[in-house]
Amino acid sequence: MKIHNLGLSRIGEKRELKFILESYWKKEISEKELQKEVLNIKELNWKKQIENSMDFITVGDFSLYDNVLDHSILFGNIPPRFKDGNMSDIELGFAISRGCKIDGKNVTPSLMSKWFNTNYHYIVPEFNKNTTFSLHPQKVLDEIDEAIEFGVPVDKIKPIFIGPLTLLYLGNDHSDLALLSDLTQKYIELLQILKNKGIKWVEIDEPILVYDDLEEKWKELFVPTYQKLNIGVNILLATYFDNVNENLEIINSLDVAGLHFDVTDMFSEKLIDFGVILNRLSNPKVISLGVVSGRNIWITNLKKVGDFLKNIYSVLDDRLWIAPSCSLLHLPVTKSLENNSEFNNFISFGYERLAELNLIKEYSNGNILHDALIENNRYIEELKRIRSTSVNYEGVEDSNRISSYDIRKAVQEEILNLPCLTTTTIGSFPQSIEVRRVRNKWKKGLISDLEYKTNIQELIKKSIAIQEEIGLDVLVHGEFERTDMVEYFAENFTGYYTTNSGWVQSYGSRCVKPPIILSDISRDKKITSEWIAYAQSLTEKKLKGMLTGPITMLKWAFPRQDIPYFKIAEQISSVINKEIFDLINTGINIVQIDEAALKEALPLKTSGKKEYLENASRVFRLCSKGVGDDIQIHTHMCYSDFDDILQCIKDMDADVITIETSRSNMKILESIDDINKFNSIGPGVYDIHSTNIPTTAEIKELLTKALKFIPKDRLWINPDCGLKTRRWEEVIPALKNMVNATMEIRNSF
Ligand code: GLN
Ligand code: ZN
Repeated sequence: MKIHNLGLSRIGEKRELKFILESYWKKEISEKELQKEVLNIKELNWKKQIENSMDFITVGDFSLYDNVLDHSILFGNIPPRFKDGNMSDIELGFAISRGCKIDGKNVTPSLMSKWFNTNYHYIVPEFNKNTTFSLHPQKVLDEIDEAIEFGVPVDKIKPIFIGPLTLLYLGNDHSDLALLSDLTQKYIELLQILKNKGIKWVEIDEPILVYDDLEEKWKELFVPTYQKLNIGVNILLATYFDNVNENLEIINSLDVAGLHFDVTDMFSEKLIDFGVILNRLSNPKVISLGVVSGRNIWITNLKKVGDFLKNIYSVLDDRLWIAPSCSLLHLPVTKSLENNSEFNNFISFGYERLAELNLIKEYSNGNILHDALIENNRYIEELKRIRSTSVNYEGVEDSNRISSYDIRKAVQEEILNLPCLTTTTIGSFPQSIEVRRVRNKWKKGLISDLEYKTNIQELIKKSIAIQEEIGLDVLVHGEFERTDMVEYFAENFTGYYTTNSGWVQSYGSRCVKPPIILSDISRDKKITSEWIAYAQSLTEKKLKGMLTGPITMLKWAFPRQDIPYFKIAEQISSVINKEIFDLINTGINIVQIDEAALKEALPLKTSGKKEYLENASRVFRLCSKGVGDDIQIHTHMCYSDFDDILQCIKDMDADVITIETSRSNMKILESIDDINKFNSIGPGVYDIHSTNIPTTAEIKELLTKALKFIPKDRLWINPDCGLKTRRWEEVIPALKNMVNATMEIRNSF
């Protein structure tokens, strides 16, 4: 049995990559220094693989920004607008991902998109009919040399690439398949170079093979493409994030030396029954099984996995390899920086996954691992004990609003008395250094609870004054007490555990720290109502209370695996429901439940989508269980591509939904066949991600367009998303223009 991995996190144990990149971007260090610094990160990763006796050492998984982007550079697929820049490969990568100036003109970066159903964003390759490819393998060749220099024997080095079909598929609009043969040619050249260098195995990832709705025209190209790629260097073809049941015939026919399958499930402790698949596989190949999770952080049940492998091992013998289910990019680097020693017993981050593989291999080879297994078992049992359900919650059944939308709308109009084209914002206001400083001081115990409270109240007061001065209709408190829309609630709910430094790369230098759902979720105190009631006490205007929805609270966390996903969601909904009633009891009539991650959490396979969407809308409705017709429920989603989820949105039955649209010029509205899928809707009228301040005229134009599709009494006016990443100097004039544009249109009615 051999052990290996599909890539490690590249941010460094202490997010070194982030700080190195930021100083490079600030021009504090040179490109050479940058490369020297990041070599430490790569070397630590190699060291950990060697220490844990990996049979192959991974190379090519490191990236300064994004590994999909690295492939665009590797294959010379540079969007033409960047071509005249005379840049090094590294500068070119940053230009494509972050934008740049060429001849004094701003050049816009390529788009970002989510990597399958993860929260990792890749830079979308831009292809068009005229795209041509050329090979630029310097980065990977340098890394191979660095690994050799570090002491890794060349035949143990396993470079990793994304396969040609997945790369094309991920491009803009499922790029043109006519490009495949040219692109494949470059892969062949690349493999030839690696072969000459003495590389024995190359991993090529084709995760699109997990899709159950992959079109025939894509499917039929796998076999011929991999035939061409067979030039005498061993290819391990890897798939992950789900099973490949629907495409097993194709996979079976591929002319490759090995196959990697993900047999884990992020949401349960189950392993896929691989015996069935094994029986369907014909010619002898190396089989790599992803048996330890690359998507979740619970310790692996070593004995269970060892026993699972027993029969398979007896059939495959030395053709069996084991690995993490996918790249360890999606886990924090190591738990060694966490200081809760008890909790640490229950979790494995990236480096700990390597150690687990090593133990499983030893166990499978008949070595007696008494102590390790007993210890592992003790923590597994301990975890079960901690989790034993003690919380009573009802709410498993469905819940609809009391009356239909039309009736609610009339009641709400009467009570709220808002003008048509109501103006509002999405919730957060600038998180200035001042805000962050106050929060950090309080967390470190440097200021008292009272001082903290007074400070936050000051910020709320200031934001209310600003909103009144701008003339907005529905105000918000500004979310100054929140680091992040998920972490804040995770810290305040019981059942969640938040880490010190469990960072995971989100994009480029940006990392997120997903909380961990350990046990049943409840709350032992009121969380939001005091802040929001304070804000309401300062104004005659209506205040909107702000909560994070169940799917988002789940999707941006590491979930427990012992109860079904939607059971966890129901528990969260039940706490949110309590929060809503607290808000109502302090006199708040408008509550927004953000579901920013609803679409991201959609299963990869079409077969799972319906059930997911039905449940997603159900747990959303559970949040507002029992609230009266007079309470206006809002939701917010930060994207505008609703293709797969329109029915779900209708079923969520929020009174108002605010969405992102300004960047696409309200295009979404044109494509929605039936606007009645929405109740009232606030299509964002300006892009909060841009530093540009939208003019009154620009906003007016968008409003005019929106009015062609949405009746004026159902149209809300708001920015695209929360304003926490912006500065007040940008926010105030932008919102003023938004209000002015609205006034002008209202006056024209
Ligand atoms: N209410 C949140 C905010 O304004 C919503 C953020 C989001 O959708 N990502 O920050
Ligand atoms: Zn948003």
